[in-house]
Amino acid sequence: MLPAMKIVFPPPLVADGCGTYIERMAQLDTREKLAILADAAKYDASCASSGTAKRDSRDGKGLGSTEGMGICHAYAPDGRCISLLKILLTNSCIFDCHYCINRKSSNVRRARFTAQEVVNLTISFYKRNYIEGLFLSSGIIKSSNYTMEQMVEVARSLREDHHFRGYIHLKTIPDADPELVHQAGLYADRVSINVELPTVSGLKRLAPEKDGARIEGAMKDVKTSIIDNGDARKKYKSAPRFAPAGQSTQMIVGADAATDGEIVTRASTLYDRFGLRRVYYSAFSPIPDASTVLPLQRPPLMREHRLYQSDWLMRFYDYSPHEVVAAADDATGMLPLDIDPKLAWALKFRESFPVDVNRAPREMLLRVPGLGVKAVDRIVASRRWRRLRLDDVARLTVSVTKVRPFIVAEDWRPVLLTDRADLKPLVAPKRQQLELFAA
Ligand code: SF4
Repeated sequence: MLPAMKIVFPPPLVADGCGTYIERMAQLDTREKLAILADAAKYDASCASSGTAKRDSRDGKGLGSTEGMGICHAYAPDGRCISLLKILLTNSCIFDCHYCINRKSSNVRRARFTAQEVVNLTISFYKRNYIEGLFLSSGIIKSSNYTMEQMVEVARSLREDHHFRGYIHLKTIPDADPELVHQAGLYADRVSINVELPTVSGLKRLAPEKDGARIEGAMKDVKTSIIDNGDARKKYKSAPRFAPAGQSTQMIVGADAATDGEIVTRASTLYDRFGLRRVYYSAFSPIPDASTVLPLQRPPLMREHRLYQSDWLMRFYDYSPHEVVAAADDATGMLPLDIDPKLAWALKFRESFPVDVNRAPREMLLRVPGLGVKAVDRIVASRRWRRLRLDDVARLTVSVTKVRPFIVAEDWRPVLLTDRADLKPLVAPKRQQLELFAA
């Protein structure tokens, strides 16, 4: 729940050609608009914090809420966790993407902020220490350029009129004029453009008004601007920064028939071609008043988690996309849900194991299930001074049971363990019985 606050209201919206409906939207007070537009923003996962228990203090007891809208958390480039005001400029849209609750044909309550209202809210929240930044997205009103202009105006006003130094993440509108997207990057720390769906056919079917080539074109322009800006700043320290926190994108998982293999391959292509900082995966969740072309059921949330794990393997464990895809089931192209992709790969390619912790190169140690990057770096550092025993490795990992079949140490050799047909149940996490009547 958002705390009570007094907002300085900007002048009401002037009808801008959309007639009485816009006037009606302008009559909503800021709190109502915030409730609608922060709730509408929750479907964008690219800065979401999730996975915790539902709690609130609406009964007057206690303090805070994990369900309230409006404030989410993100991680700054230096690793700090920062709170962001996460809202849409408007949830009205002239497009009709089937998976989106804000699509033109959706029967939801609409609201719209003016640029000035978003600026006022951000400053008010910032001064009260509720937030450290803004995450702003929007439905498309009138045209892509018009919408993008409004979003740029928010960021411009925050930076130039209010000298706001906090974090700003702008979702850009892919069809917008590249010059407007460039301006967005000059004011924002991060810009992002959603590719929306992993395959071209999925995008055509579920978001027919969107153009995959234009989305990629916009990402390419942002990448070029980031590189040019890096060069300019090497020559002139005073050159204005462009999107110093880079660009990111988001893919919806489970709304079309794309396999995990296809998603991983697409993500890897996006990282390579556009220098993305992050690809976010958002498990499709059935929305109220959903289009009939969508699946009735959401994919298991674990699928999203496995995709994040595979993304992690490519970014930090030096796995090639080809290797991650090889961890998927050959017939279905899907990553297993019951074990993580690193363990799945190790079980499938047992001939690569066991790995000698005292001699193997770092890249092979990174493939040992149960050994993280820090553990591997400590092994590499320690073995320069002495030969490592199983106990030494056990101290670096949560579960030595998981590691044991895959390594050789000074006093340990798994003998036939690696080849056992029943190895998977021995190393897979134990299933947990959920409480049937848990509160
Ligand atoms: S353009 Fe964006 S806001 Fe509009 S319907 Fe499509 S996904 Fe939703």
